[in-house]
Amino acid sequence: MIESLLIANRGEIACRIIRTARALGIRTVAVYSDADANALHVRQADEAVHIGASPARESYLVGDRIVAAAKATGAQAIHPGYGFLSENADFAQAVLDAGLIWVGPNPDSIRAMGLKDAAKQRMIAAGVPVTPGYLGEDQSPERLKAEADSIGYPVLIKAVAGGGGKGMRRVDTAAEFADSLVSCQREAASSFGNTDVLIEKYILSPRHIEVQVFGDRHGNVVHLFERDCSLQRRHQKVIEEAPAPGMDAATRDAICAAAVKAAKAVDYVGAGTIEFIADASEGLRADRIWFMEMNTRLQVEHPVTEEITGQDLVEWQLRVASGEPLPKRQDELAINGWAMEARLYAEDPVTGFLPSTGTLDNFHLDDTVARIETGVRAGDTVSPFYDPMIAKLITKGTTRAEAMERLAFTCDSVLTWPVKNNAGFLAALLRRPEVFDASIDTGFIAKNLESLVVGVEMSDPLLEMGAINIFKQAGGTDVAIAPHKYDGELDDVWTDMLGFRMNAPANPLIWMLADGELRSSRIGSTRLGVGSLLWSNGNEILIVEKGWPHRFSAARSGGNLAGGAADGAILSPMPGRIIAVDVLAGDTVTKGQKLVTLEAMKMEHSLTAPFDGIVADLNAIEGEQVTEGTMLVRIEKDS
Ligand code: ADP
Ligand code: ADP
Ligand code: MG
Repeated sequence: MIESLLIANRGEIACRIIRTARALGIRTVAVYSDADANALHVRQADEAVHIGASPARESYLVGDRIVAAAKATGAQAIHPGYGFLSENADFAQAVLDAGLIWVGPNPDSIRAMGLKDAAKQRMIAAGVPVTPGYLGEDQSPERLKAEADSIGYPVLIKAVAGGGGKGMRRVDTAAEFADSLVSCQREAASSFGNTDVLIEKYILSPRHIEVQVFGDRHGNVVHLFERDCSLQRRHQKVIEEAPAPGMDAATRDAICAAAVKAAKAVDYVGAGTIEFIADASEGLRADRIWFMEMNTRLQVEHPVTEEITGQDLVEWQLRVASGEPLPKRQDELAINGWAMEARLYAEDPVTGFLPSTGTLDNFHLDDTVARIETGVRAGDTVSPFYDPMIAKLITKGTTRAEAMERLAFTCDSVLTWPVKNNAGFLAALLRRPEVFDASIDTGFIAKNLESLVVGVEMSDPLLEMGAINIFKQAGGTDVAIAPHKYDGELDDVWTDMLGFRMNAPANPLIWMLADGELRSSRIGSTRLGVGSLLWSNGNEILIVEKGWPHRFSAARSGGNLAGGAADGAILSPMPGRIIAVDVLAGDTVTKGQKLVTLEAMKMEHSLTAPFDGIVADLNAIEGEQVTEGTMLVRIEKDS
């Protein structure tokens, strides 16, 4: 067995690999860029090597530095993770040439599957059914157009070097072909440095079905069944599951056998995925499933396969790379239960899924019914340099419905703040009847985007409805429902609040978690007329508006609300202008002392210290406009 391993990746996958390596007694070496100097994967590894500046081109994609880091630290092997250099045959070769073990397939296998046209030619030769289309060398626009005409519209133009859902154009009519070709080639040139394209029949009612395969150096190849990744946005997977709903045993046997055949055709070693596209207009049928491409690496969604088979695929990779035979024979592998994964992104569905960067002041993922794979912690920064996926949420159930319900629950309890996330969107998706019935195809999200995203947008009246209900229902002593200007001990808030209600201002400010974000709302300022209360357990409520559930809970003092008043972070309770800052960073302050004065709604509001302590952070600047929820001052208890 390998004794030391360098992981040429970052984020959740680097952490995932380190976990298994450690369990196997393997010493781990992380690599990192400037932006990742304090990243979780760096902390978790036994050793870490700085390999360059923040842009991936200057660090995670510089093969020479990674090989040099392995040499310098005495690592015996390199695991590339996914993305980055994982499907770069030249890098794999460089690793081997340096006398190191490459945790992946032979460079020739990567090359054979690297370009989509060559891969499909190879599969046709091996007798694997492929999507009908044109794979020729003649790339003249006239020829490509003629081929598209004869295939029949709609067609899909695909960059042969494409990946990550890029370099693809669906063309519905002959008239649009020329323009789509030009724009596809332009994207292919800038993203992949290769303008060659292939043309495929666009499959109607498409479902993405893929098969996990594994080979060893002793000529064995097995499959670990299929995954369904049909819930996609812009050709990128959003929610994945295993097994595929509606897959009968005969169809499964046929597609898994085709996958094994495909892997054997390229002498495949290690973890790989054969991706198929299915015409599901009449359910999944063996004669309507075609090879699309092979990913010659560990896949993002590998955990769902691990959950239903009980295997650790990273362990398999490390054993195979060490020269051991596959841990299991085909007849020792079986499907047990159902698993689902959702990709949690730091992005804002409301702004068209723009990545949301910044510091994760609050970060909490509920692992009571889920397996969480993440590479970040509270306090980490989501930088603009890399993929904004911050975690994968994976659940298992004995039935699909159970796995799904658990995943929806887990999405509901996601909290990231002030960084935005797509959890509300994921939860809305998981509660759609079409998703529940698995009657969807890859176009489902695009077709329903408006209603899925409206579901996560929170209107002021809805927030207020949440605030009123939280106010009415929350109980106990640790509820941090803080009226504006409240300066008592946090634990006394609720008690005080009850008394406070009698002669309080008519519209106290309520802090709450609304769909995973820390929000505030004022009671009594807007006319209600939204939503209906669906469920409540005393301090959490679910309000349904326009068919979408929104979850509200009281911000808790003992919980994970690092940005709440709980730990002394003073947030701007409303949009306004800072008119005075009465403290300096490092000052000692006493409970109730005035820190900052905010002018809002034509009134002055003093924000005071919640307890004795020191000014640990000071972000408030006199004269500046601030938005609601901006962290202005943070007081730390001096101990
Ligand atoms: P799959 O086919 O495995 O679902 P994708 O093609 O969506 O995968 O995933 C590979 C992509 O993951 C790469 O294109 C890259 O953008 C992204 N990626 C690479 N490394 C990381 C990482 N450490 N964390 C998150 N995303 C990553
Ligand atoms: P990438 O390398 O970007 O992952 P793929 O060839 O795997 O490219 O295609 C990505 C996605 O595009 C698929 O998961 C599927 O949703 C869609 N797609 C690809 N080929 C077809 C096709 N012929 N018909 C319909 N949809 C397709
Ligand atoms: Mg693909």
